Amino acid sequence: MLETTHPLMQSTEPHSLLCPTCEKPQARVFLELGEVPTNSMVLLDTKEQAVSYPKGTLTLAFCESCGFIFNPDFDPALVDYSQSYESSQAFSPRFNEFAARLAKGLADEYDLAGKTCVEIGCGGGDFLQQVEMQGIKKGIGVDPAADPDHRVENATERLSFIREFFSEEHGSLQPDFLCCRHTLEHVPDPAAFVRTVRRSLGAASSVPVFFEVPDTLRVLKEAAFWDVYYEHCSYFTPESLAALFRQEGFTGVRTELDFDDQYLLLHCRSSDSATDAGSSNAYVNQLSEEIEKFSEKYRTHIAGWSSYLNEAKEAGRRVVVWGGGSKGVAFVNSVPGGELVDFIVDINPAKQEKFAAGSGHRIVGPEELRTAAPDIVLVMNPIYTEEIKQTLRDMGIPAEVRAV
Ligand SMILES: [Zn+2]
Repeated sequence: MLETTHPLMQSTEPHSLLCPTCEKPQARVFLELGEVPTNSMVLLDTKEQAVSYPKGTLTLAFCESCGFIFNPDFDPALVDYSQSYESSQAFSPRFNEFAARLAKGLADEYDLAGKTCVEIGCGGGDFLQQVEMQGIKKGIGVDPAADPDHRVENATERLSFIREFFSEEHGSLQPDFLCCRHTLEHVPDPAAFVRTVRRSLGAASSVPVFFEVPDTLRVLKEAAFWDVYYEHCSYFTPESLAALFRQEGFTGVRTELDFDDQYLLLHCRSSDSATDAGSSNAYVNQLSEEIEKFSEKYRTHIAGWSSYLNEAKEAGRRVVVWGGGSKGVAFVNSVPGGELVDFIVDINPAKQEKFAAGSGHRIVGPEELRTAAPDIVLVMNPIYTEEIKQTLRDMGIPAEVRAV
């Protein structure tokens, strides 16, 4: 998306798109971003590979019945969750603190000591290890990108990993607790997925279940376009997530926000009855208003950052982006003038000396800043601003730090 004719918001006339969650034909398109890299986290060894990385169409539609937001043009075949997919945030102390607090909270609430815990979409197993440290009997991670040879350091034999997509058959693991973090937003048919989870737990069970996804209400309110990317095909708000779980046979559904209100957490239990209450009209109307406002804010945001980068360039100021995750990659790819960013900094060694899909920006470690002397460091996630300012102070780098 670096060409000058960058994608713009377009209003499309309502038409009957089928909602994959409530299965009613009441969804309409509200955002068309055009072609974007199909994986904003993939690590590429050369700039050429990065620039020619496959692209897919990113469109967002909104269901006027249940409030679910999704990409109707999403093609799962274009997304490859193999080893080159690096989703670990475990290198940040701020994120580790959150994960540790969450694991302890879940262990206390569900009395997990001596129990069997299953995590769907466990990635490298960092969170499962946090849960394991709470004294559980067994922790099993199910993830097509999991490392069956225990990648996590200091992993005990209580932890094991199954390199498969989760299916009903994994119910044979007989979990006393099941969790799934930052996975459901990657699933194009979340109703079928949640149904599979429910069936895996058996008809008459009452197993505590915990899900965590990004909160889309915040993305809409802040017009955080960098939180919209190809791999995320399903977008939830507290109400639409809760409605989905009630619809698929879970009870005691409770949602809350955490991690500076960026993450949406859902607690529930499997139940033998489904309550297909759907979402309230008032809620769907409010969401509809947020979506209208989002359109305007999105345009303003993109234009604002484009001017900022161009003005910095004219003033001879060098700009770098801190954060080589999806947000950083979406930023340099979406903002016209993204090529004016010198490079992307990331503290995760696995990302360093690699290249961002689409724009081809080089990703380097903080050490590079000693020689590159940037004037401005744009922080992709404001929650890390203080951590990054301190790192720069410790290194004696006087750059201006600005959160995006
Ligand atoms: Zn719907």
